[in-house]
Amino acid sequence: MLTAGQKTNLLGLDRKAIEAFFQTLGSKAFQGRNVLKWIHKHGVTDFDAMTDLSKKLRQQLKEVAEVRVPEIVFDQPASDGTHKWVLELDCNSRIEAVLIPEGDRSTLCVSSQVGCVLDCSFCSTGKQGFSRNLTAAEIIGQVWVATREQGKPLTNVVLMGMGEPLANYDAVIAAMDIMQDDLACMLSKYRVTISTSGIVPAIEKLREISDVSLAVSLHAPNNELRDQLVPINQKYPLEVLIPACREYVRGDKRRKITWEYVMLDGINDTDKHAKQLIRLLEGTPSKINLIPFNTFPGTKYRCSTPGRIDAFRQRLMRSGIITMTRKTRGDDIDAACGQLVGLVRDRSRRGLKL
Ligand code: SAH
Ligand code: SF4
Repeated sequence: MLTAGQKTNLLGLDRKAIEAFFQTLGSKAFQGRNVLKWIHKHGVTDFDAMTDLSKKLRQQLKEVAEVRVPEIVFDQPASDGTHKWVLELDCNSRIEAVLIPEGDRSTLCVSSQVGCVLDCSFCSTGKQGFSRNLTAAEIIGQVWVATREQGKPLTNVVLMGMGEPLANYDAVIAAMDIMQDDLACMLSKYRVTISTSGIVPAIEKLREISDVSLAVSLHAPNNELRDQLVPINQKYPLEVLIPACREYVRGDKRRKITWEYVMLDGINDTDKHAKQLIRLLEGTPSKINLIPFNTFPGTKYRCSTPGRIDAFRQRLMRSGIITMTRKTRGDDIDAACGQLVGLVRDRSRRGLKL
């Protein structure tokens, strides 16, 4: 866990890992749980302020550990209350986290990678290339910073920022454990949502160990079109994706898969597509989020007209599928879906294996 000269960042350790860390120090597991509470419940990063730890333990912690949070380098509120923070992780990597307040709720959209290797054709993050995975500390660090900045706990977290969370599995799982831990962020499984473009083996693995809510970026009702829009479909086509998702929610009547469907003018938004979509989702507990396409420089796509989006929604609703059109939030600060680009210095497509 420790390499010479390097301190362990306790921010990214979930309950099990922090207990083990304290045991390796010759201390007790419960002291680890205390520190988990100090960091995530009370927002404390200074060991000297953790008053229920002995002086000796605090001294020992200062030598081998730290609580290092991401640094805000850019802070931009939008006219609709949405808030975007650009966070610097190291001198080469910046990411974005977006806070969306709505009445009593506050939802944070969290990034999981710097860039993304999957290169969906309508996504500006994908167009930036891929630099690296975030660590668990960098993922949960976004929650920590947003909680501090808004001065109260978040009510919802969605892993829908930059990157493909299921391509950074271990770090995302550790961060989600902290989000759901009663000693830390205390978010229920219904309030933590992971959004994936459909990495089927990872969905199957996730089902074994977690029950967070699942959103899947569908965007097309047939393989031919989905192959073009979401290239990972060439590896995990609809006939394997849909059963894996159905299996994910099996056994809990309250659970549904949220399908994300970006509305692209003349590409995936006709009545024929709606009909195919209804047939495709038959037998899978579903709700659909229609996302108006957010444009970015250089894209060949346009957003469907409001009338077309509404007709598409009505068609799906008539078939009994709960369908919502996502409000575009933070449009004036480029904080909307697929506009998060952060800073990706290494524009390689390292790791893209279809
Ligand atoms: N990689 C994950 C999560 C991040 S993307 C995924 O693909 O699900 C979050 C959501 O924004 C996805 O549904 C994605 O398809 C959508 N999105 C990407 N680019 C977009 C754009 N330009 N306009 C609208 N939605 C977009
Ligand atoms: Fe990656 Fe998601 Fe963008 Fe596709 S939509 S390129 S998976 S971030």
